[in-house]
Amino acid sequence: MSTKYIFVTGGVLSSLGKGITAASIGTLLKHSGFRVGVLKLDPYINVDPGTMSPLEHGEVFVTKDGAETDLDLGHYERFLDTALTQNNNFTTGRIYKAVIENERLGKYLGKTIQIVPHITNEIKERIIKAGEPKDILIVELGGTTGDMEGMPFLETIRQMKHELGREYVMNIHVTLLPYIRTAGEIKTKPTQHSVQELRRIGITPQMLILRSETRIPNEIRRKVAYSCDVDEKSVIEAIDASTIYEVPLNFLAQDILEPIAKELNLGELRPDMNLWSDLVSKIIQPTNKTTIAFVGKYLDLKESYKSLTEALIHAGANLDANVEIKWVDSEKIENNSAKKYLIDCDGILVAGGFGERGIEGKIQAIQYAREKKIPFLGICLGMQLAMVEFARNILGLKDATSIEFNTQTPNPLIFLIDEFIDSSGSRQIRTSTSPMGGTMRLGEYECNTKEGSNLREAYGASTIFERHRHRYEANPKYREELEKNGMVITGESAGLIEAVEIADHPWFLGVQFHPEFTSRLQNPNPTILAFVKNALKK
Ligand code: GLN
Repeated sequence: MSTKYIFVTGGVLSSLGKGITAASIGTLLKHSGFRVGVLKLDPYINVDPGTMSPLEHGEVFVTKDGAETDLDLGHYERFLDTALTQNNNFTTGRIYKAVIENERLGKYLGKTIQIVPHITNEIKERIIKAGEPKDILIVELGGTTGDMEGMPFLETIRQMKHELGREYVMNIHVTLLPYIRTAGEIKTKPTQHSVQELRRIGITPQMLILRSETRIPNEIRRKVAYSCDVDEKSVIEAIDASTIYEVPLNFLAQDILEPIAKELNLGELRPDMNLWSDLVSKIIQPTNKTTIAFVGKYLDLKESYKSLTEALIHAGANLDANVEIKWVDSEKIENNSAKKYLIDCDGILVAGGFGERGIEGKIQAIQYAREKKIPFLGICLGMQLAMVEFARNILGLKDATSIEFNTQTPNPLIFLIDEFIDSSGSRQIRTSTSPMGGTMRLGEYECNTKEGSNLREAYGASTIFERHRHRYEANPKYREELEKNGMVITGESAGLIEAVEIADHPWFLGVQFHPEFTSRLQNPNPTILAFVKNALKK
């Protein structure tokens, strides 16, 4: 069938979980047998979120082909168990950049460049390209209806409905029904206004998904249906769920697929959600429990570790265990002692990060895990610091560090390779003065695992593929010295060190890649699964 589009917009305010909503609908359609694709449109002007602080925008998610994207793309991959690419996310900045480049090349034949049609056409082409190999493309528009930046996108959506016809385009609007405690009432007015705003632009949503803290009484549903001109069956309640993975099940219980199938003429749908719902019940009521110390820096904004915390949930669900995260601020370790924070933990996780702040605390946490033989996983910066810790405390190189923190160090355990071949096969140059955007090793790389290692055991494969996002690399100059003293290199990629372990330790693994980006509820990442399994043993 030719591609059908579901556009998901948001009203009233941001942070309503529009991404989860869109991903949940996609999951139900995928489990009904359709080829489902997703596209996230970000109205902000940055070309990509790669240079934004995690405090600004949560985690930067990295796709297989090395695009630095919005964290919602991570939710889509996790829900739809699929790998997305560059083509599944773009921003206003990227659109304008392309249009301006085309204008400089004279591609518009001397025309005046305008939002309509030049910007809208560019948006449309990209939407169509993202949908090409799919039956259904779910398109989520970031931001809130009424935002200035969102206008060209909404205009494009309007045009597409007009051009393709009703059966090919459906608009779903996610809004909030606030509960006013003092009045004891749920209010529908903001939703009405937001739908009016959409209609003013020329878009009439066929379905409303209402976020609410409490159950929505039938009379309120009827009122919303009536005032916003949608069928009552198309008013769907989205109350806070105990886990995000429950959302598709909650939607299914309200027969959400019925009106969707009717709008898009999809026939009768019967999604198979048995395995999914089994895993959800293990998240909600697990049999076992383990506590992982999560040593990091951006603890005020846990969103910046989204993929990793989700990956721990996936591992837990598949092992029927509650993985409790104990958040440990690495700077606090510096001022106290690692023991104080880590003594009651079954596993220690040192996550990735950038910049010098908090690294000494992370090193102390690694030393504690190594000496006390507690299962340890170091990711990216976590692996780099595991090597630094080993060099300092076992090899006796007291000044060992990464050149990220001291460019003049006599012992750069972690250094900069200034020339390398990226995942697309092209030559990349990066130096300490290279611009910040786009000079990292990004995306999926092959890694060969060493026989008998924790890494090999976790994957059961000699070649694995995982994603990267870092600028610095382990320095092979120290390899021999490290291996002689008990730190083993267990993962390699074209001469680059990708994983390290400690021979005399029950389970210690540092990985240069980010395993969390490929973890899914029904397909947990092997590195993280093995880590949690070993923590459970303890
Ligand atoms: N800052 C380190 C680097 O750039 C590690 C990055 C990370 O942990 N993602 O290499």
